[in-house]
Amino acid sequence: MKKKLLSVILSATMVAALLAGCGEAAPAPAAEAPAAEEAPAEEAPAAEAPAEEAPAAEAPAGGGKVGVAMPTKDLQRWNQDGANMEKELKEAGYEVDLQYASNDVQTQLSQVENMISSGCNVLVIAAIEGSSLGEALDMAKEANIPVIAYDRLLMDSDAVSYYATFDNYMVGTVQGTYVKDTLDLDNAAGPFNLELTAGDPGDNNAGYFFNGAYDVLKPYIDEGKLVVVSGQKTFEECATPTWATETAQSRAENILSSYYADGKDVDVWLCSNDSTALGVENALAANYNGKYPIITGQDCDIENTKNMIAGKQSMSVFKDTRTLASQVVKMVGQILSGETVDVNDTETYNNNVITVPSYLCEPVFADVNNYKELLIDSGYYTEDQLK
Ligand code: BGC
Repeated sequence: MKKKLLSVILSATMVAALLAGCGEAAPAPAAEAPAAEEAPAEEAPAAEAPAEEAPAAEAPAGGGKVGVAMPTKDLQRWNQDGANMEKELKEAGYEVDLQYASNDVQTQLSQVENMISSGCNVLVIAAIEGSSLGEALDMAKEANIPVIAYDRLLMDSDAVSYYATFDNYMVGTVQGTYVKDTLDLDNAAGPFNLELTAGDPGDNNAGYFFNGAYDVLKPYIDEGKLVVVSGQKTFEECATPTWATETAQSRAENILSSYYADGKDVDVWLCSNDSTALGVENALAANYNGKYPIITGQDCDIENTKNMIAGKQSMSVFKDTRTLASQVVKMVGQILSGETVDVNDTETYNNNVITVPSYLCEPVFADVNNYKELLIDSGYYTEDQLK
């Protein structure tokens, strides 16, 4: 049964991957884009190098300096992303300036400005808030430094050269399809109770994840087979600022005490990622005695993978950070040597100013049946890390 389900999901994923590879357009994310940063050209800090001395063009063959700006060390995945990028870039012969910003927008802004003034030839940025780096991006543009948006799109700027990410809409589709297949929504009578926890409104990805899942489940919500007992169905109502586990946990605790204290079961808790799923899992452990729900996630973080093994989380979506890092290192090399840069999507990711040429890697369904192959056999984790 399980095997069959998995193969259905995997094949759906593969079909979706093919479609995505052909430039399937994802609907606009639910999150509203904040107004563009004001950074009048004359107030932009003087760039170290005038445009005609563009560092990118001058980078020595096989060398150069790459600035890598990561959001935070608090969430496991960014530590892996940063470490993978640093290792691969160094192996490829680049100098690396890797910075983490403790989820503080101002810190990230000054880190990126420093990378520019210290002579980085290319910038790779995983933004804390997609629309908050306008000033630094203007500086980069003026200094002719190409910028790659890493995993999260940089918004409201024409200074973004490329975007490398996983197919974010597909992540949501995989989660929604898992719920649909596991509950056998086309045949089961239902109704089933559903709650939803989404990501950070400042992260452009969050709307894609939510919409991808919601689009699969919407027909069943509309016909009453899935009932959102709390009534909280919009991205805004379900969002979790900075993806914080504690915030997801306190919202889940409120929902449980307000709507499920009478003994109702929650059948599904759709969570956009692992850090928010962890919050929901903590809330359930402390405040709920009913039937344990299906819980979705994303990232295969260590704590969540342990929870999958223990039956406390049903699935996750594996986004192998090694794949993304390799792709970005390849892009850096292509940019610096003036080659054509690999992209496979030129339609989906509009940042309110330009449509950014993108490379979308494929996310992979993960659960207790395939985690060993995906995570241990591939060397992503050791068996001991999951004990
Ligand atoms: C990433 C997810 C991650 C989330 C929280 C998103 O931008 O795509 O993989 O779970 O941020 O860090």
